[in-house]
Amino acid sequence: MTNERSAIADQMPTYRVYAVKYAERDARRGEHFLGGDPHDAPMSMDYYVWAVVGADRTWVVDTGFDESDATRRRRRLVRSVTEALATIDIAAATVTDVIITHLHYDHIGGHDQFPTARFHLQDREISFATGRHMVEPANNHSFTPSHIAEMVMLVHRGRVVFHDGAEQLAPGLVVHHVGGHTAGLQIVRAHTDVGWLVLASDASHYYENMLSARPFSVAFDVPAVLAGFDLIRSLADRPELIVPGHDPLVLERFTPVRPDLDGIAVRLDRPR
Ligand SMILES: [Zn+2]
Repeated sequence: MTNERSAIADQMPTYRVYAVKYAERDARRGEHFLGGDPHDAPMSMDYYVWAVVGADRTWVVDTGFDESDATRRRRRLVRSVTEALATIDIAAATVTDVIITHLHYDHIGGHDQFPTARFHLQDREISFATGRHMVEPANNHSFTPSHIAEMVMLVHRGRVVFHDGAEQLAPGLVVHHVGGHTAGLQIVRAHTDVGWLVLASDASHYYENMLSARPFSVAFDVPAVLAGFDLIRSLADRPELIVPGHDPLVLERFTPVRPDLDGIAVRLDRPR
């Protein structure tokens, strides 16, 4: 990096970035790779809500799911998303901006815990979630229809901000369209004091999806998933600053926010 460029980077705002676990489920390796996996072993899944905290503004990324989906889909909700965010001193009820990576139940189901927020969404995601592909169980099973109807209501109330491709939300905070897992999936790139970090969300559920170039089992567009892996690598300053969407290893590879939050909340801009 030239001196001039590093001077610009020095002036760019930095964000603290958090992951907080709110749910979990037991699963096996074969469930997490397209086409299965030859090794039949346990591979549990964690569910996170993320937060990007700047000097004067906080952005929450995704909203988790609630008790009804936990029961219906047999996932263990260990704390509500409101409780999860409270561990890092964020009050969901007062959050102004929520970035929605995609509209699957485990990312949008807790939207009503953010009664004053605007929701940032890719154009292509709401088209996908309300369009022709939703008549197919292979494409609709991770969506909960009432969530989608509620998002349409929020559109008409002026509480959805649409993005098309890569857009800067604030200096040092950019969303990028990836697609793949769903047609309109977006990822979040945040500038931190240790470099550019990428919240990949379900562009890579686990580290291993990216590392072995094997998409997760739910994939609308496989070539787009694979292109997404390359995009993620190009946007992160270091591999350690890539954060997969559902990997329990996230809680081991990053630093707990406080000793008593070990296994619950980590600072993603502080790799261990
Ligand atoms: Zn997910």
